Amino acid sequence: MTAKLIKGTEIREEILKEIEQEVKDIKAKHGKVPGLVTILVGSNPASVSYVTLKIQTAERLGFHEIQDNQPETISEADLLALIEKYNRDESINGILVQLPLPKHIDEKKVINAIDPDKDVDGFHPVNVGRLMIGGSELKFPPCTPAGIQEMIMRAGIETKGAEVVVVGRSNIVGKPIANLMLQKGPGANSTVTIAHTATRDLASHCKRADILIVAAGVPGLVKPEWIKPGACVIDVGVNRVGEKKSEKTGKMVAILRGDVDFDAAKEIAGFITPVPGGVGPMTITMLMKNTLKSLKFKLGIA
Ligand code: NAD
Repeated sequence: MTAKLIKGTEIREEILKEIEQEVKDIKAKHGKVPGLVTILVGSNPASVSYVTLKIQTAERLGFHEIQDNQPETISEADLLALIEKYNRDESINGILVQLPLPKHIDEKKVINAIDPDKDVDGFHPVNVGRLMIGGSELKFPPCTPAGIQEMIMRAGIETKGAEVVVVGRSNIVGKPIANLMLQKGPGANSTVTIAHTATRDLASHCKRADILIVAAGVPGLVKPEWIKPGACVIDVGVNRVGEKKSEKTGKMVAILRGDVDFDAAKEIAGFITPVPGGVGPMTITMLMKNTLKSLKFKLGIA
């Protein structure tokens, strides 16, 4: 069997077009567009490139975008004051603080300072609670898990009653995707198992999975013989395993691999996400969707 590829690059385009249209409609009807501020502290190259992509995507969608770059040396108190300023800014619906932050700043304090109704990353404890309760309480699901669920739904995979096994229990991927999949509702209603470093016999859990979601950060962790024939395999892992010369630019670029042995797994699975080009492109897309949602909540049209 050769698995059907679930391509994040294609699904991203579908969703961005939908958001673009909705932004135009809301602007025509209500005279408002979603407002997003990206706060970048310092100049970590990976953070700069993530923030640049977020800004470019927001601009393409017609959002009001503020790029607020701060020096590495900003004090915690000044950063908290800056967040408070955007909490009060009526034109801003989403506040994005790019992580990681420098060591002298307490990340938890910063996340907790963001108004939960503008926390489009979905990391504030209030939004974690809303996710746990689910239903109409859920406002901003964290972006990578929300993207995973969207991919599963758009690929037409039955989730009701499905055995979902999540490998990884991080607060940004493992725990929230497990929570999303067990809620009652479309694209969920599954029987969920979370596996982690202390799990005994990881293989036996994976073998039961109709939908296997792997977010461990260990290249090739999941072996092809652990995959149930026909299963849907979502590989969240992005691991740098070396470098190669780009055919397009001639520059050295990272070789990326997922947590699943893709070449062998695609012969057994029914559906599989590639790395790169699978889950990766969904994260920023869902950040945009959450920012639009935030404006819709404010306008009472969500
Ligand atoms: P993390 O390191 O915070 O968590 C990894 C989890 O995997 C831990 O809970 C750990 O218990 C579990 N784990 C590790 N090794 C294991 C093993 N051998 N057996 C069973 N469980 C094991 O990582 P994270 O932030 O959740 O990210 C996971 C992977 O997903 C990384 O490769 C990361 O780069 C990638 N990621 C991709 C995106 C994206 O594509 N947009 C977003 C976030 C994370």
